[in-house]
Amino acid sequence: MRIRVLGCSGGVGPDLRTTSLLLDGEVLIDAGTGVGDLSLPEMRLISRVFLTHAHLDHVCGLAFMADNLFGEVSQPIQVTAIRQTIATIRHHLFNWQLWPDFSSLPTTQDPLIVFRESPVGDLHDLGGGRSIQSFGVLHTIPAVGYVLKSQTGVFAFTGDTGACEPMWDVLNSLPRLDKLMVDVAFPDAQAELGVISRHYTPTLLSRDLGRLRHRPQLLLTHGKPGCEEVLQAECARAFEGWDYRHLKRGDLIEV
Ligand SMILES: [Zn+2]
Ligand SMILES: [Zn+2]
Repeated sequence: MRIRVLGCSGGVGPDLRTTSLLLDGEVLIDAGTGVGDLSLPEMRLISRVFLTHAHLDHVCGLAFMADNLFGEVSQPIQVTAIRQTIATIRHHLFNWQLWPDFSSLPTTQDPLIVFRESPVGDLHDLGGGRSIQSFGVLHTIPAVGYVLKSQTGVFAFTGDTGACEPMWDVLNSLPRLDKLMVDVAFPDAQAELGVISRHYTPTLLSRDLGRLRHRPQLLLTHGKPGCEEVLQAECARAFEGWDYRHLKRGDLIEV
């Protein structure tokens, strides 16, 4: 399983794209501004999209991708998420006002987008020995992370989350965990903002990693633009002894 990081930043800027991961060229996990780096032939190959939550930095690329693919593909794009996420993007994004409702275009019988509600914990077979399963996290709106399994390894992606005890229980219940892509959005000096906006900060994440029985490689993401240097220095201290790296656009994750 090969995951291409289209974007993993907490904001936009030169070389910065918001969260989107492309799994084996055919499955998108989140659809932030990173989707905009895909060519039209690459977009045509995407058959399924899994969303962590409805925040704009994780879904805005879906709007533009749908527009690009209109009239270009014969099969619908399946967009899977928890009920609240689908309700929010239907109501606020694909609502004929902010953007056309591509779940009824070109016709309601044969639409470009098919929304699939999926409760937390649902397991989806992706074929080829691969699977994806959601788990609950704690963010300002209902949100999930995903565990991806291949025949050779296990990768977990928290999406956006603050401190969340049940999440660590889920991760501990996995038979193995090779790589963990996790939110470290703000430096410690902004810990209060991290708590309010439900994002991890280095010291808080370091504390909670103490609950984890596995020792995965840490892939740190969602840093706020402008905070890169401070975050790198704080993470060097907080994750001393861990195999970790700051993920960036264009990176490949092999699982
Ligand atoms: Zn968010
Ligand atoms: Zn986000």
